[in-house]
Amino acid sequence: MALGPARLQFRVQLRFVTEEQLFGPGPLSPPTPQSLRLEVHPAGEEADATVTDADGVCVFKCLLNRDTECCRVGKESILITLGYNSALLKFESHADLSSFSNTLKRCRNEKKELSVFNQRTEEASAVQYFQFYGCISQQQNMMQDFVRTATYHRAILQNHIDFRDKIVLDVGCGSGILSFFAVQAGARRVYAVEASSVAQYAEMLVKNNHLSDKIIVLPGKIEDISLPEAVDVIISEPMGYMLFNERMLESYLHSKKWLKANGMMFPTFGDIHLAPFSDEQLYMEHYSRANFWYQQCFYGVNLSSLRGAAVDEYFRQPIVDTFDIRILMARTVKYTVNFMDAEETDLHRVEIPFVFQMMQSGLVHGLAFWFDVAFVGSLVTVWLSTAPTEPLTHWYQVRCLLHTPLFAKEGETLSGRVLFVANRRQSYDIQIVALVNQTGFRSGNILDLKNPFFR
Ligand code: SAH
Repeated sequence: MALGPARLQFRVQLRFVTEEQLFGPGPLSPPTPQSLRLEVHPAGEEADATVTDADGVCVFKCLLNRDTECCRVGKESILITLGYNSALLKFESHADLSSFSNTLKRCRNEKKELSVFNQRTEEASAVQYFQFYGCISQQQNMMQDFVRTATYHRAILQNHIDFRDKIVLDVGCGSGILSFFAVQAGARRVYAVEASSVAQYAEMLVKNNHLSDKIIVLPGKIEDISLPEAVDVIISEPMGYMLFNERMLESYLHSKKWLKANGMMFPTFGDIHLAPFSDEQLYMEHYSRANFWYQQCFYGVNLSSLRGAAVDEYFRQPIVDTFDIRILMARTVKYTVNFMDAEETDLHRVEIPFVFQMMQSGLVHGLAFWFDVAFVGSLVTVWLSTAPTEPLTHWYQVRCLLHTPLFAKEGETLSGRVLFVANRRQSYDIQIVALVNQTGFRSGNILDLKNPFFR
């Protein structure tokens, strides 16, 4: 079942105002008592807003869409105008007002073109992406990655002084699990931002864990929503395959616009590691798959003219699985992204030059990749590693084949570069060039990180 965005409920005061009342000599009509309930039911791009009194009688109803006229008044109120009449809604807190305004912005289609996220993302990609994360089963899958979840738990709780009484932002909160950890570590308030429809389930967990006073779920994209205040710590789990897939690191870096000057980022930096590997079987497997198209009489049809295209397509797929570290032929080269310093645009094009000192002779079939992230807290630094020497995670490791294997001898050097170029499908085009310096043998490949092969 496809779920809509979260339904929202607020307590509000309501006052109807007309121009005549505002500028006429008479007194304003008295406001309604505080006990009114405002419910917002999203329906597609629009939403219904209904205000009911204590007896459940509807006292005000309007449609929120691109034609809705509204403006903020003071700190906690918003004025909605329908025709010549206006309704002034006063919320219980600025956080409630922010949450309502975010919905209003979405319905009014504000920022649709301007949003950093929308500018860099094809709509079809975003729809599919957030539908994926809207599934409870996908959130469960991540939560059940014990290495991942337990390491976040440890990183946050062991650095409790960085959370005690602090204001925290959880970017892409999913189920809200990291927000709960932040509260366990003593956070005063957590803003939990989530763009997929799983936001409504996060809200349910918050309510049922009696933490509505501490965790404020804000449905929407981090690029589009506004927070009522700056934050001390940003927590997030934005890593994709090969670290960069999904381009969510950019959203994580974008969120620093809400970080106080001396604020902290959890995780603090990420290291991507690469190393040449030898794996004849993997290479042959890829070829055999393409060899299907070699057939000259498949039900009487000659397929062989597509064999080249099939080989190309298979070789464009990075391979997601794990392997024995003995296939690695050199010590890794490491590239660091420091989330404290880096800006979103730094990740549009990432170039990683390498020089490997070969520690064994043989055929290099490609490069293997994995990453670690570090949580640098005031008390301890905690590492989350996806290395092949560590317990396996749902990120596995990723290998990129070279079109033609390269022979290299122990002691020789393999140099070149990996270039990641961001694309509008929330992923990267990867270019690899490699050269054995002593022999001049060259190879390379171009890969599509959006379409990995799960082996
Ligand atoms: N923090 C959760 C979920 C991590 S998965 C956990 O650790 O279990 C990443 C989540 O970020 C997904 O639910 C995805 O929908 C959300 N997300 C990705 N990009 C986002 C963006 N730009 N704004 C808000 N949420 C985003």
